[in-house]
Amino acid sequence: MLPYTTLAAAEASLGRALTYPEALWLKYSATKSDYFLYCHNLIFLFLVFTVVPLYYVGLEIVFKNIQVYKIQPKIKFSYSEVFGCYKEVMRMFILVVGPLQLVSYPSIQMIGIRTSLPLPSIYEIIAQLTVYFIVEDYTNYWIHRFLHTEWGLYEKIHKVHHEYTAPISYAAPYAHWAEVLILGIPSFLGPAMAPGHMITFWLWIALRQVEAIETHSGYEIPWTLTKYIPFYGGADYHDYHHYVGGQSQSNFASVFTYCDYIYGTDKGYRCQKRLLRQLKEGMKSNSEQNQVPDSTSPPDFKFD
Ligand SMILES: [Zn+2]
Ligand SMILES: [Zn+2]
Repeated sequence: MLPYTTLAAAEASLGRALTYPEALWLKYSATKSDYFLYCHNLIFLFLVFTVVPLYYVGLEIVFKNIQVYKIQPKIKFSYSEVFGCYKEVMRMFILVVGPLQLVSYPSIQMIGIRTSLPLPSIYEIIAQLTVYFIVEDYTNYWIHRFLHTEWGLYEKIHKVHHEYTAPISYAAPYAHWAEVLILGIPSFLGPAMAPGHMITFWLWIALRQVEAIETHSGYEIPWTLTKYIPFYGGADYHDYHHYVGGQSQSNFASVFTYCDYIYGTDKGYRCQKRLLRQLKEGMKSNSEQNQVPDSTSPPDFKFD
């Protein structure tokens, strides 16, 4: 809670006039507890899980030609199946995500997420979000890779998320409750390393899920702005991880491509892309078509 409730007191404390966003923040948050502000994440997550996937459903309804951008066009889900997925995500939201939010506040206090004035500058927000995405991507890579092993109890935990071999937007948060808890850790590490303002934290939690929904959308849409982000994986990249299936040893990273490149877990994907490109361009000879993938190709390579 802010140590002042009036504009005059806030300006006296800061020694300057408040900016318009700061005045709005004062007006909104002055009488609200930090715990209550933290719990706003529940509303934001509910809205993100519910509304953002609708964008892709809406595209399917309005633009029939959108199918040309579908990554696995042979796989189609009925609206009742999509709604069934949403219901399961909401069940997990009520039983796991919500309670986790309600009890994790002490960790937010411990790492020092602030609600006070001044508000962070746009540069501070962008810098911190960049750090959060990089830290999350790196730690998620290793945890996700571990979840694909026997030791990581793949059959009991991560297999649930892989029920969708052709992902859909609503299936982004679809996972076993234990996975929801485990993958909460990488999301907290970035803010723990570079603690910022509550507004930055809200943005981080929401944007991370928006990013996950895009990568699970099942569509490689050419006008998406995220493709301009360096080393960004995107929908096609993560779709391959689901397409290969449970035994996948490719494309573990959640956001960027560099971890898979450095640790050699993107060879199957790159090989598939190369072959598809050659087929498309009509430059592939018969001998190349019959060629067995070279020794650098991983065992999870799948092609149809
Ligand atoms: Zn996986
Ligand atoms: Zn996935």
